[in-house]
Amino acid sequence: FMSRMPIVGGNWKMNAGNGTTKQSVVELVEGLNAAPKPSSGCEVFVAVPYIYLDSVSSTIDKSFKVSAQNMYKEAKGAFTGEISGEMLMDMGISTVIIGHSERRDIFGETDALLGAKISKALSLGMRVVACCGEHKEEREAGTTMDVLVPQLEAIVANTEDWSNLVIAYEPVWAIGTGLTATPEQAQDTHAKIREWLASKIGTTADGVRIQYGGSVNDKNAAELAKAPDIDGFLVGGASLKAGPFSTIYGVF
Ligand code: PEP
Repeated sequence: FMSRMPIVGGNWKMNAGNGTTKQSVVELVEGLNAAPKPSSGCEVFVAVPYIYLDSVSSTIDKSFKVSAQNMYKEAKGAFTGEISGEMLMDMGISTVIIGHSERRDIFGETDALLGAKISKALSLGMRVVACCGEHKEEREAGTTMDVLVPQLEAIVANTEDWSNLVIAYEPVWAIGTGLTATPEQAQDTHAKIREWLASKIGTTADGVRIQYGGSVNDKNAAELAKAPDIDGFLVGGASLKAGPFSTIYGVF
């Protein structure tokens, strides 16, 4: 059994901290800088909108990493509105979330595209947080793993060195809904994901960190964190306030 350092991310989504202004970003960063620091045994990142990456990374305490929420698969060129991994790395941003369910469901990103993004980001030496998750109807129909497997296959097909790859399991029905998976439901799915991974990559699967995401908050984090295959969290709403977010990473 390989030990896995917990990793907790705050996904700000299209929120400038608690508002839509650079001032509200400054306030959240100030709050995080004043909050209890992550323990040395836990990695913490904040994933902020592109336009704030530079200011946040130059003002936030060094105990937090700063992440992008997306990137494109190409280095440069005629891709209006997109940002490349090369550009992120040049700005000192070496962590990226890829394949969040909002990218899949709202922007139509496919496993093929996400696989290409993962491959590109890893080739640049970036830390990739690759997301997967099923919808409510799929869970209710008992097809959770049938939905996760193609998502995971796109990850496996594009990952050679697993040291920079983190999986975020985020059941879509739990994202932003206040409906958290129970620790048992989350553990059960995390264990199945790891078991499936082991069938593809062998014992390397023991070292792959799997974050849980979906309505994690300062009240439920401690209980979820006890599950043996939950190696951290990806947090949306509760990452927009320093107090709750620091309580969440503080459970590790
Ligand atoms: C997320 O955006 O990854 C997420 C899990 O959101 P929330 O915590 O708000 O459910």
